[in-house]
Amino acid sequence: MDYEKLLDRAKEQLPDDVDEGARFEVPKVKGHIQGVKTVINNWFDIAKTLDRKPEHLLKYVQKELATPGEIIKQSVLFGSKLPASKINETIVQYAEEFVFCASCGKPETKLSKEGAIIMMKCQACGAKNSVKSRI
Ligand SMILES: [Zn+2]
Repeated sequence: MDYEKLLDRAKEQLPDDVDEGARFEVPKVKGHIQGVKTVINNWFDIAKTLDRKPEHLLKYVQKELATPGEIIKQSVLFGSKLPASKINETIVQYAEEFVFCASCGKPETKLSKEGAIIMMKCQACGAKNSVKSRI
């Protein structure tokens, strides 16, 4: 899926409802290129904001970008040079799949496993949807 479509979908799912306080924003990565590798320093902060495990987020991103990554202390080290925009897009995509409620678009969701299926339960609207997991 391309990024424009993703943004459109995100807009649909996140209406401009200013009355409900600040709109949830997926944090942007902070890091630098180190030789032929990419270091992301705020991986744990991003995972915390999304309320997901850093390892799960990494598993998804490294698969999508076809680049191995490893967690070193609180940072992530990717085995190739990656533009920040590419990683940010992929994290937004992750949030679309694993964080935002498919019914109301809010990020207050919890994942649980039911057999081989991952279910997403929304704390905001109570909806329960299955996650089409590719990881
Ligand atoms: Zn919901």
